[in-house]
Amino acid sequence: MAASLVFRLHDRGPELVREVLLERGWEEYDEGEREEEDWNLYWRGSAFRNSEYHNLLPWQRLNHHPKTAGITRKDCLARNLRRMKATFGSALYDFSPTAFILPNDYTRFLAEYNKLRLTRGPSVYWICKPVDLSRGRGIFIFEDIKDLVYDCSVIVQRYISNPLLISGYKFDLRIYVCVKSFHPLTVYIHQEGLVRFATEKYNLSSLHNLYAHLTNTSINKFGPFYKTEKERVGQGCKWTMSKFRHFLHSQDINELLLWQRINNIVTLTLLTIAPSVPSCPNCVELFGFDILIDNKFKPWLLEVNYSPALTLDCQADITVKKGLISDLIDLMNYTLTDSLRERAYQRQGYRQSCFHTNHPSHVSIPVPSKVKETKFRKRRSGSQSQTLLKTQNNHEKMNQRQSRQHAFVADYRGHLPPVDLNKLYAASGRIINTTATKTHTEKTLNLILGPHSRTNESVVNSQTCPARAPWLMDNRSLRMSEVTNHDDTETEAETELSGKTDVSSSIHDLPQRGLGFRNKLPNIYSGSQRPVRIPLGGTTAMNGQHIPPLRVGDFIRTFPFNSATLRASQHKLEVKIVIQALHKLTGQLATSDDKLRREEEEVRKNIDGEEDFDSLLWGPKDPPLLNQCFKPT
Ligand code: ADP
Repeated sequence: MAASLVFRLHDRGPELVREVLLERGWEEYDEGEREEEDWNLYWRGSAFRNSEYHNLLPWQRLNHHPKTAGITRKDCLARNLRRMKATFGSALYDFSPTAFILPNDYTRFLAEYNKLRLTRGPSVYWICKPVDLSRGRGIFIFEDIKDLVYDCSVIVQRYISNPLLISGYKFDLRIYVCVKSFHPLTVYIHQEGLVRFATEKYNLSSLHNLYAHLTNTSINKFGPFYKTEKERVGQGCKWTMSKFRHFLHSQDINELLLWQRINNIVTLTLLTIAPSVPSCPNCVELFGFDILIDNKFKPWLLEVNYSPALTLDCQADITVKKGLISDLIDLMNYTLTDSLRERAYQRQGYRQSCFHTNHPSHVSIPVPSKVKETKFRKRRSGSQSQTLLKTQNNHEKMNQRQSRQHAFVADYRGHLPPVDLNKLYAASGRIINTTATKTHTEKTLNLILGPHSRTNESVVNSQTCPARAPWLMDNRSLRMSEVTNHDDTETEAETELSGKTDVSSSIHDLPQRGLGFRNKLPNIYSGSQRPVRIPLGGTTAMNGQHIPPLRVGDFIRTFPFNSATLRASQHKLEVKIVIQALHKLTGQLATSDDKLRREEEEVRKNIDGEEDFDSLLWGPKDPPLLNQCFKPT
């Protein structure tokens, strides 16, 4: 008997997620039919409540990590990037146009404005954006400060006035980034993305013409040149990233360096919040990074979207977004968690409605479960008895939840890899050096893990391990406000997708897959959940540390990208070390001196033993291994 996986969509959307999951044999959650906890994936466009993180059961995943507003709100992003600039140098964090948060930074803005006027003359442009709006709403561009009028909190940013143009039109890139885990930081970027064009030719003498200066679909679809049949640039068309790659080939540039710079932007941006995001192993996040490329091929970060639009507006959308969601589901790997949910329900005598025969027809077995019975009784009773029943049911539900958790925990013990508590504490950011704390935490952990959890084996799969489940996290860490950049979703409520428990210890690297390959992947993470020991010449683990797969579908792992960054992210994230490694890598890609590159590569290998660590360079078609990028051509 195989159980179907169950997804839950908030506010009925997005349709694309429903479509992809149904195609893959999932079932949609139905409140009237299922118990409250009876789902594997909860997807919503807006933020989850703290309680939803705290009450997560091991088989449940959410499509948002807590506390990511630090990069998805325009003002928070500006503030965080400024902080990083101050700490690590403006040369490194120079990928975001200088920004001021008004009204607070008005004096500073004025000083900068006057300084640039004096040194550069009037040809400096600014863009003003309301901090809590998205999809181009409320944005305007100005040259003269007298045109700056605002009545809400805004950011004023240097306008990149020399964008790279294609056929005279401005465009930006939508890059899809999946943070599979913040602890340890594990990042994937999708090979496909979108290129979004303005619908009127770029012209600095008409700053008010938003159809020439903004690339949001939601703005341009109201432009006079927007067409539903978008054959050409200028009609509101979007390109896939593959098409953009063709365009890049026709340009005489160091393409690898451009891609690596975009990689850097993603990593450096995530580093601004990674240490402060609470550990929530059952979550993933799909961010939409908006990148503008200027006419010197320098990429700029415009913003990070919390809920990238999943509406299908044209063929490019269909090609890109469907594959994206499908790959995201693969990246989450539900094989293990599915069986956990099934088992926990069985323990409780539930015969849940999601059980099916193995047969592809997926016929439900119509067994009246405790759950259904309760709901049935509820519907039948009168209003007075309904209130009473409701209270009873609430108690019942609470008891059920608790006993299910305990049943699950008891059952789960037998499936856990041995745990090194010190690593566990360190990984979860808990204090490890006071006896009291340790004893207390050990008790809690033992409740969850069982007695054998104290054995001192080295590898902890921090994401699979329920000891780091959300209910053990520091409550304080989950307080958050997630008013963020929802994307340019045109019509439906924006929604996103989902959480995960990294079954990383059982993950094997995938063979590379061509861009055109769109079939459903086989079960890519099959195998035991035991930590995989380093196979000779293998890529799954090194020095006892797990290496996430380098590629899942068209998702390319971009972090960690070598052994130094793997080590620097295993416990407390060592931001400085990560930044050094990035710096070094970019330097190697940038240098044109082959001899120097080879020498540096030798040194790097000797120091880091990195020849064992395969990583791909996200961006180019058929992404090469990073190591190969350093080889002379
Ligand atoms: P929103 O969340 O409202 O979409 P963005 O920051 O993404 O806000 O800006 C909308 C559009 O405006 C971008 O897609 C881009 O075309 C343009 N834009 C934004 N900031 C800049 C900038 N600093 N320089 C040039 N163009 C910009």
